[in-house]
Amino acid sequence: MREILHVQGGQCGNQIGSKFWEVICGEHGVDPTGRYQGQGDGASDLQLERINVYYNEAYGGRYVPRAVLMDLEPGTMDSIRSGPYGQIFRPDNFVFGQSGAGNNWAKGHYTEGAELIDSVLDVVRKEAENCDCLQGFQVCHSLGGGTGSGMGTLLISKIREEYPDRMMMTFSVFPSPKVSDTVVEPYNATLSVHQLVENADECMVLDNEALYDICFRTLKLTTPSFGDLNHLISATMSGVTCCLRFPGQLNSDLRKLAVNLIPFPRLHFFMVGFAPLTSRGSQQYISLTVPELTQQMWDAKNMMCAADPRHGRYLTASAMFRGKMSTKEVDEQMINVQNKNSSYFVEWIPNNVKSSVCDIPPQGLKMSSTFVGNSTSIQEMFRRVSEQFTAMFRRKAFLHWYTGEGMDEMEFTEAESNMNDLVAEYQQYQDATVDDEGEYEEEEDHEENYES
Ligand code: GDP
Repeated sequence: MREILHVQGGQCGNQIGSKFWEVICGEHGVDPTGRYQGQGDGASDLQLERINVYYNEAYGGRYVPRAVLMDLEPGTMDSIRSGPYGQIFRPDNFVFGQSGAGNNWAKGHYTEGAELIDSVLDVVRKEAENCDCLQGFQVCHSLGGGTGSGMGTLLISKIREEYPDRMMMTFSVFPSPKVSDTVVEPYNATLSVHQLVENADECMVLDNEALYDICFRTLKLTTPSFGDLNHLISATMSGVTCCLRFPGQLNSDLRKLAVNLIPFPRLHFFMVGFAPLTSRGSQQYISLTVPELTQQMWDAKNMMCAADPRHGRYLTASAMFRGKMSTKEVDEQMINVQNKNSSYFVEWIPNNVKSSVCDIPPQGLKMSSTFVGNSTSIQEMFRRVSEQFTAMFRRKAFLHWYTGEGMDEMEFTEAESNMNDLVAEYQQYQDATVDDEGEYEEEEDHEENYES
């Protein structure tokens, strides 16, 4: 078995992480006590065939999430423990402090978080030792706060040090002023991106700006709550991990997913789309046809990142359809999209769009589709954060909170330029055509990495 070890950190990370477990427990027929019930739309052996990817099997046939929960304050984890699936987690895997990180990346990464990190690593190590053949890790966190962001990226770098040949996937929530009112979030996010570029293999971008817009514009929710945003996130996380959790060929492990989607190692930030979009509470059995699902899934309005794919080009993309449907029709529809929009796909990576069908639909839907794309347009989101960062950094506003924790201004400058470089790299490949290899020869770094 190729196991995945899940870690969730900070308020946001714990909230989206626990929703993820609720949703996948439902899909795999596991009840809140960890027992297999097999109820649900897709009760079948398929629910159990690859259950060990995410769950440990304990005595008495209980399924226990291979999950580590960390935070610098106890509140969020207390609510998880007393929530509907609170009893399913291993009690030893809750690691928390009392100090809080006060939305300060430096506290999470260098001071308070650094004090707690060894206790987290002990639990991680214990879980890893129990694995038959660990394929990698997934981390859920926000980038705008202090714990998920600062301590989350500290953990990622420690894990990379200890398990250099394992994959690291993240579900990273990017901040938006539409959702939050803490002014230093662009600092925390930029410092985190600096880390994720170097130490993560694949990052699923969950952008609160886009999630808010979907709730407001498409789902007509006038004052979206975190619960509403997290409903979209958990549906997306279920869709993205579907190919890892159920039998199938395409992207069946973290490494295959990375190989298909990442032509250049730094460009591993993915736009994720989902269809059909539904709001929390309304389990309206929306039923769409394969052409409708395909059309919506590629639509900018269904992307969980505030960037318009039509402002860039796809390097690669992958689509997972779920439910009972004709594979042939899926293939035809996907080809159709590419033929009609060929200018939006780089022509120098032939066959850069893959798709597959998983029989088991998400709960409450007959069919769904999830899209993961490596689009150069994602630079729009990085530019947005970068502009907010630079506006403050130019005046050194709020820096004392960080230098007070021992940070050097230099790290801010480096983070800023690393993110700006990333934007420039996306732009470079967006402009590249088959005929201008000249440009590529200059990029020796990328060529070497790509081949190795
Ligand atoms: P931490 O506990 O120090 O890691 O801080 P938070 O996770 O509260 O980070 C603050 C950022 O996360 C802000 O950008 C918030 O808008 C966002 N955030 C906090 N909780 C949630 C949540 O449940 N869902 C979503 N989508 N975003 C959240």
